[in-house]
Amino acid sequence: MAYAWDRLPVPRKLSDFERKWSRRYDPHCFSGVWRFHDLLPFVPVERCVTVGEGQTLLHLADGVGRYVGINPGGLFLQYEGMNPSGSFKDNGMSAAFSHARSVGAERAACASTGNTSASLALYCSVTRLMKAVIFVGSGKIAYGKLSQALDYGALTVQISGDFDDAMARVKEVSKELGIYLVNSVNPFRLEGQKTIMFRVLEALRWEVPDWIVVPGGNLGNSSAFGKAFFELKQLGLIDRVPRLAIINAAGANTLYELVEKQGLSWKQGDPDGAAVCRYYDEMDAGQRRASTIASAIEINRPVNFNKCIRAIEVMDGVVREVTDQQILDAKAQVGAGGLGCEPASAASVAGAKKLVSEGVIGADERVVCILTGHQLKDPTATVAYHTTDQELFNKVLGSRGVHRAAFANRAVAVSNDLDEIIKAIQLYS
Ligand SMILES: *Cc1c(COP(=O)(O)O)cnc(C)c1O
Repeated sequence: MAYAWDRLPVPRKLSDFERKWSRRYDPHCFSGVWRFHDLLPFVPVERCVTVGEGQTLLHLADGVGRYVGINPGGLFLQYEGMNPSGSFKDNGMSAAFSHARSVGAERAACASTGNTSASLALYCSVTRLMKAVIFVGSGKIAYGKLSQALDYGALTVQISGDFDDAMARVKEVSKELGIYLVNSVNPFRLEGQKTIMFRVLEALRWEVPDWIVVPGGNLGNSSAFGKAFFELKQLGLIDRVPRLAIINAAGANTLYELVEKQGLSWKQGDPDGAAVCRYYDEMDAGQRRASTIASAIEINRPVNFNKCIRAIEVMDGVVREVTDQQILDAKAQVGAGGLGCEPASAASVAGAKKLVSEGVIGADERVVCILTGHQLKDPTATVAYHTTDQELFNKVLGSRGVHRAAFANRAVAVSNDLDEIIKAIQLYS
């Protein structure tokens, strides 16, 4: 999607957006998405739907920085878990929802590993403007997310199969029934997700960091970030573009395999499509399915693949893969720093650590890791990591190749006896 910027009122400098801060009584100025409406003007602002998304903060996190190998003052966490539905998906949903309403849609559908459906269900129930139809794979959705879809009253269709299966079906069904599709194939969602980068810049007083590190699932975020910086540069609002690091889970690593192993790139609009088809054919022939504890990125056929490799070109990007063990250890470090996140989000921190150890990211650089979802989204993974119950650990994590919990904070078992309890507290505190 491209705008005719020369015919639109574009701010002359990014700090012009600060004038919106004094108008928090206006929901479109309060929204962390719509206060940047000038940079995503596909629907008139008065018709944009908001539930207060994007009130998220960039946190300096020296403790996590130490773990990653970044000098004090250099590592930041953009905590998108603080959105109304608990994940960054609300940034894009407010945009897709606004577009859906502007074309008169009455029902919206999505396939989801959980957070998109939670977000859609929330927008539908808060605004009462549309009905949500949600497709999820069976047994593939974290309870925090499923509970949201159900609680918000969305029609939830559980398909036997995984995300990739649910995705294929929702496309057919929405076409057949004329339902508006809000999956990441929806380009308006990416427009909303650009604002995550605008807020990062805002928090850094409009200074461009050196690196943006983001988990890669359907590759909507990475695509949106590339577009955001491409446009800011095009508009002369920044003079430099940060580098992008996209982190796959090792059990769902299509982007890593194609970009880093096979050298696939955007080539200014002429990528090797045949190589991608060959890769998918081999994947299907070998019946390879995505598998990772980071369910939000458990995706083998990322729908935004082409847009993402374009973003990699724009931002001189790199791709890495991290194991579930690395993801959970990083997640525990993020949690210990006070900003809990779900497993997929911690892939960004694990990936940053890997890139520092490789010398790709320098210890003195300014690095922003995106924490995509809230800690409470997937309590099972967290409890299993910290548990003393070996059976639970094995069931949830052992099957995923996770063998130790280096940063486990174990509950202390003690009998219901005052002296014993006091003794235990004195021993451990
Ligand atoms: C959707 C999601 C992702 C994956 O993001 P993409 O834009 O699809 O790459 C990562 N983390 C969380 C928590 C998500 O909900």
